[in-house]
Amino acid sequence: MRNIYNLTIEELEDYFLSIGEKKFKATQTYSWLYEKRINSFDEMTDMKKTVIEKLKEDFSLEKIKLIKVERDVEVNKYLFELHDKHYIESVLMRHDYGTSICVSSQIGCNMGCKFCESGRLKKVRDLEPYEIVEQILLVEEDIKERISHVVIMGIGEPFDNYINVTNFIKIINHPKGLSIGSRHITISTSGIVPKILEFADFPYQVNLAISLHAPNDKIRNEIMPVNKAYKIKDIIDALKIYYKKTNRRITFEYIMLDGINDKDENAEELCKLLKGLNCYINLIPYNETNNLGYKRSKNDRILKFYDIIKKNNVGVTIRREFGSNISAACGQLRSRKEQL
Ligand code: SAH
Ligand code: SF4
Repeated sequence: MRNIYNLTIEELEDYFLSIGEKKFKATQTYSWLYEKRINSFDEMTDMKKTVIEKLKEDFSLEKIKLIKVERDVEVNKYLFELHDKHYIESVLMRHDYGTSICVSSQIGCNMGCKFCESGRLKKVRDLEPYEIVEQILLVEEDIKERISHVVIMGIGEPFDNYINVTNFIKIINHPKGLSIGSRHITISTSGIVPKILEFADFPYQVNLAISLHAPNDKIRNEIMPVNKAYKIKDIIDALKIYYKKTNRRITFEYIMLDGINDKDENAEELCKLLKGLNCYINLIPYNETNNLGYKRSKNDRILKFYDIIKKNNVGVTIRREFGSNISAACGQLRSRKEQL
């Protein structure tokens, strides 16, 4: 049986047409699911009994299971169990501009970045849209407020699960869905070039972040195996096309790893590489994990790196640190749970 939270509005409209009903029943249903948050189709009081019975026959409303929450002042971390007993996680962050959630898109990840906890577990399977949507539904239920921003930066490579992730975006962006504005949604990729090109034609104004983490192929090859398939130059060329089509500024994420990618010359090289692109760089203090052996750059190193970029007139921010107390970095809660 299909899960109803998997369906985009178009898919739901097609469904109603296919059972001989009017298409507007789809928006009506969305409003029950995402505004009124029903737990049973019987609660849909403005639907005919026959339609309700048909919905019950064809769809489940089943939710993923919230099994653990770690709470801190600005961050909550959620662990979910899926129907096949795998675990994923989401992180909720409070900002002055609202609340954002970081959602997972796969169980594990095949990209194998050397510094990343999530990459230690090979991909088991892609998440379906409902499993991503429900991370938001369950966290909103927990905090009893609406989430304003979504980043697809949890476990998994979203561009390795392109259709489900873009359907997820369609569902949460819809005014009768979760109504999260596309400019409030960010998708982060390790740089799967064909998908960057495909995404350039995705007609939603979603932000794109690229996990670059290195100013040249030599360093990037060492920490990100995906770079052997898609070189930095290929990524930049794809981004130029993306920018031409979307006119949207691109974010580059750059994890500061002690002694690996944090020298002055790396900052200079990074600026040269990104010159002429409408972009900014988000420097991320590395969240150390027990298993991987990488160290976070010293604070004065991060500041020096920041200054060099600034002097080159490239936009740059240092990411505020969230949740290192409660292992908020990508994949750490799941990894503890499964003791990998
Ligand atoms: N797979 C996608 C999205 C998930 S990872 C991607 O790589 O972009 C989201 C971000 O978290 C990436 O930039 C990743 O490099 C970063 N990350 C992974 N482990 C981290 C850690 N221990 N500390 C800080 N950032 C981390
Ligand atoms: Fe996968 Fe992103 Fe982690 Fe790399 S950083 S292993 S792409 S989740």
